[in-house]
Amino acid sequence: MSTTETDLARKRRARRIAKLLEEAHPDAHCELDHTNPLELAVATILSAQSTDKGVNEATPKLFARYRTAADYASADRAELEGLVKTTGFFRNKADALIKLGQALVDRFDGEVPRTLDELVTLPWIGRKTANVILGNAFDVPGLTVDTHFQRLVGRWAWTTEKDPVKIEFAVAKLIEKRDWTMLSHRIIFHGRRVCHARKPACGACTLAKLCPSYGTGPTDPVAAAKLLKGPRVAELAALAGVPAP
Ligand code: SF4
Repeated sequence: MSTTETDLARKRRARRIAKLLEEAHPDAHCELDHTNPLELAVATILSAQSTDKGVNEATPKLFARYRTAADYASADRAELEGLVKTTGFFRNKADALIKLGQALVDRFDGEVPRTLDELVTLPWIGRKTANVILGNAFDVPGLTVDTHFQRLVGRWAWTTEKDPVKIEFAVAKLIEKRDWTMLSHRIIFHGRRVCHARKPACGACTLAKLCPSYGTGPTDPVAAAKLLKGPRVAELAALAGVPAP
């Protein structure tokens, strides 16, 4: 973990961390409810500046009303705005969904395309969203570099890059492609439940021995265990060998 760590040593450490994340977060998954690629594309657009939970509360009615790209393309703007209002920025988002529907109808026969290059040509679909869609709707491995991902891989010194695309390429070299999608979910879960932005639960983290940023948060097991979040607090504490809070 020193600054002189070789590329091979970093790769080995990264893969050990990935393995421990798998053990810590067996329930990791895409938290945006969807049953097909179009629904996932719509949900990811709505998730900008909103929580996944908030999006999941809004989408059942939306998906029941709009089933195809053509439905969004010809949507009544006021009605669509009403259905996405609770997710925030509803005017922009309704506009994005109409434009997404139009682009899909005009250029892709109404189907969500299956390649990164095509997905990023769609309105409001950036590289991160495209990778979410590829990984979770099409089973094409993708790394989803969101704020949790950026923070955690930085703390683990997997890369010193700050730009999300450069981070994606750096992590792609460390982790086998087939693991990219699930690794992304597990990193996000670890970011939400253990390695928080402000006070990470270092003293109750299973990655402590492999993490150069151990000590960024409290190392006292009791204090750290209290910082764990989510439905698996007891399991996470047990895995880290600390008393459950
Ligand atoms: S030891 Fe601390 S900084 Fe490192 S991953 Fe765990 S919680 Fe995050």
